[in-house]
Amino acid sequence: MPYKHTIDNNRCKGCGLCVTVCPKNVLELSDEVNSMGYFPVYQARPEDCIFCTTCCIMCPDVAITIIKVVEETQAAEE
Ligand code: SF4
Ligand code: SF4
Repeated sequence: MPYKHTIDNNRCKGCGLCVTVCPKNVLELSDEVNSMGYFPVYQARPEDCIFCTTCCIMCPDVAITIIKVVEETQAAEE
């Protein structure tokens, strides 16, 4: 997987905006509170994520990040 989707649980205030905008219905709100007393979002169906970044753009608290994962090369064999 060339990209990694991460959610900072302790920044999320459980507003649900990202859940609504995700075109693949990947996200759901947790039933466990975070350190701020909110129910944070999590990836309920990570295998369906297409890394479209819509959730990152929508989040008012910048709690979601998508980073590109650099694959290990075969440099060690050279
Ligand atoms: S990157 Fe796109 S598909 Fe993945 S969780 Fe966010 S909105 Fe949904
Ligand atoms: S939009 Fe941001 S603050 Fe709102 S539920 Fe999603 S991750 Fe949490």
